[in-house]
Amino acid sequence: MLDCLEKTYGGWRGIWRGLGLCMVFPSCVPWYDIHFHDKKILLLEAGPKKVLEKLPETYSNRVSSISPGSATLLSSFGAWDHICNMRYKAFRRMQVWDACSEALVVFDKDNLDDMGYVVENDVIMHALTQQLEAVSDRVTVLYQSKAVGYTWPGPFSMTDSSPWVHITLGDGSTLQTKLLIGADGHNSRVRQAAGIQNISWDYDQSAVVATLHLSEVTENNVAWQRFLPSGPIALLPLSDTLSSLVWSTSHEHAAELVSMDEEHFVDAINSAFWSDANHTDFIDSASTMLHYAVAFLKPTKASARQLPPSVARVDAKSRVLFPLGLGHAAEYVRPRLALIGDAAHRVHPLAGQGVNMGFGDISSLVHHLRTAAFDGKDLGSMSHLTGYETDRQRHNTALLAAIDLLKRLYSTSATPLVLLRTWGLQATNAVSPLKEQIMAFASK
Ligand SMILES: Cc1cc2nc3c(=O)[nH]c(=O)nc-3n(C[C@H](O)[C@H](O)[C@H](O)COP(=O)(O)OP(=O)(O)OC[C@H]3O[C@@H](n4cnc5c(N)ncnc54)[C@H](O)[C@@H]3O)c2cc1C
Repeated sequence: MLDCLEKTYGGWRGIWRGLGLCMVFPSCVPWYDIHFHDKKILLLEAGPKKVLEKLPETYSNRVSSISPGSATLLSSFGAWDHICNMRYKAFRRMQVWDACSEALVVFDKDNLDDMGYVVENDVIMHALTQQLEAVSDRVTVLYQSKAVGYTWPGPFSMTDSSPWVHITLGDGSTLQTKLLIGADGHNSRVRQAAGIQNISWDYDQSAVVATLHLSEVTENNVAWQRFLPSGPIALLPLSDTLSSLVWSTSHEHAAELVSMDEEHFVDAINSAFWSDANHTDFIDSASTMLHYAVAFLKPTKASARQLPPSVARVDAKSRVLFPLGLGHAAEYVRPRLALIGDAAHRVHPLAGQGVNMGFGDISSLVHHLRTAAFDGKDLGSMSHLTGYETDRQRHNTALLAAIDLLKRLYSTSATPLVLLRTWGLQATNAVSPLKEQIMAFASK
């Protein structure tokens, strides 16, 4: 007997009506879990099914840096194996430095563990789609099915009286479920329809992404990020000769970067990584003083500065820009509703955390739903959904605030702030326990 399943729409009325697929949603499907053996899941995706018949030779310009914690989640239901069989690049070190001073922080691990993985979004999607097909008896996916309307069980309150949320699709058909999971991105219609307040603002920046060819073959296992006064520029390794660019800068400059000819674009990237035009003697002296003071007080071997690779050319048509913003839902849950991924939070890509936060939501939500299922409880009930909200808001708000603060702190060349962040970065680099804590937090 399927607890919450009724058949009215193409054979389905599902227990979960998850919206949005992209990268986050499918992985929240706990299909192997014994506690969910009598539950069924329906996944609605507005877009078409995307399958990679054959791995294209050309790398996609849309990639994500995946934390070890997210990789563990993906491997817990078999998707990571597919990714390994296609392609990904592990990185073992991160070097972050300021364009206005010599300050830098290097994150690396003594034991040569991977710090993260750069994976094309298409590859992640393909892996998830393959896993979804493997569990088609439990999970049904409707592609090109856009949800356009929702009817909630009475006015939202903390009581869970009615057991169903009703959903209308673009073709006029309706569905009902006991738990709707909104994973429909930062413009979430689910969040809006539920009347959940969303604190949001647009940044004065867009991110330009592109696939870059390096001048030389290297081991290429370092993720590089330099904070320019106009925004951070990052190189994420893809292979021995290729890296992916994420350059956040003013909207005007981003538009210019996307339209300029290839040679000038490559020159602009190399100069953004190499030029010292933003240095001042005052900041350089202050930074040198702190450097010597730290070396005197704590004469341990600091991770050495490495030089970033130089870029030779850019893949044709790989340059695209994305306007950036911040968003955070005041509530992640309501009776019979949970928000996950960008529907609940949107961050600047400077820390490469957006999708990882979404994967973290999934792990937490599955944990709380599993407990509810084990106790024979209604999965749409607030009694366990609030546990999910508390866990995730605690983690996500801290990360969101830290990322926003970094964005602001580094978007200026005002001397007092440059000095503050220079010393802050140097101190972080010198204090191993602090670095370890940052690494542990970011690898979740
Ligand atoms: C330039 C850039 C670089 C980034 N780099 C990184 C990185 O390195 N690491 C990282 O962790 N994060 C990164 N991010 C963030 C990451 O891309 C997002 O956090 C992630 O894509 C959010 O996934 P999501 O599934 O929640 O939302 P989305 O990706 O927006 O997906 C929403 C899905 O919902 C579907 N949908 C929407 N409305 C409906 C509807 N009404 N009915 C049915 N389906 C619907 C859409 O078709 C879509 O598939 C980056 C972001 C940018 C812009």
